[in-house]
Amino acid sequence: MSQTITKGFLIARLDHGTFDEIITFIDDYGNKFVCLAKGTKKIYSKNARNLQIGNYCEFIFFLAREINKISKLVKVNVIKQIQWPIFRTSFFLLNELANKLIYPSIKNLVFYKNLLPLATNPTFNDQKAQLIILQKFCKLSGVELFVDKCVLCGSNKIKTMNFNLKGLICQNCFTQNNKELYPLNFNKLVHFLFKEKYDSINNFSSYYQSLINYLVVYIKNSLGIKILDQNFFHFYNKK
Ligand SMILES: [Zn+2]
Repeated sequence: MSQTITKGFLIARLDHGTFDEIITFIDDYGNKFVCLAKGTKKIYSKNARNLQIGNYCEFIFFLAREINKISKLVKVNVIKQIQWPIFRTSFFLLNELANKLIYPSIKNLVFYKNLLPLATNPTFNDQKAQLIILQKFCKLSGVELFVDKCVLCGSNKIKTMNFNLKGLICQNCFTQNNKELYPLNFNKLVHFLFKEKYDSINNFSSYYQSLINYLVVYIKNSLGIKILDQNFFHFYNKK
C-alpha cells in the first residue's frame, strides 16, 4: 500500500463494526474511492468531526493495490465545510445518486459539484431541487426524456407523457398506444424540466411530488437503479 493524497467530496459514511466506518468520496477527476476509516466512531476521533457528508476535504489514505483489499484512511482535512445539519431530501438524494454512479468520469464530479448548492440551500424549494437532480442524473446516465415533439412521429401536437416511450407523444400516437393520460400541467412540467428551463417550472409546483415519484420509478425501470432511501426522504418531508 502506498500513501496517497487527494481532494474531493465525501458522499457516504457507513458503519463498520463498533468503532469504524466505511467512507466514500469522489475526487476532482470524478474517481470514487472507498476507504476504511478506523476509530471514527470514537468520541475523541479528530477525523470524525471532519467527516461530514458534503464536505470538500483533503484525504490522506493508503490506497489498496489489490482488488480484494480495502484502502485505509489516515487523515482528513476539511477544505470547505458544509453547513450542518441539513434536513433536505434533495441533499440525501444527491448523495445517494452520486454513490450509484459506477464509471469514473469528470462528469460525475460536475454533477455533484454543480448540484450541491441547490441541495444545501435552505431557501431553494426542496422538491424543485430534487427534480433538477433527477433530471440531471437521467441526462448523465443516458436516459434523458425527449420533450421537443412526439417521440414516435415528430408531430408538434403534444397530447401527453409516455414514460415507456421516454418522451411526449401526440394525439394520434396516444390513440394507438393508449396508456396513461397525464394532466396538461404535468406534461408542461416534464417539458420545461427536461428543456432545463428551470424558471418556467415554478408555475407547476402542485405536480412536483408526483413527477418525483414517476422519475424514481422511471430510473428504476430504465437503469435498474433503486433509490433505497425513499422512506427516509419522506420521513424528513413530513417535518
Ligand atoms: Zn405522434
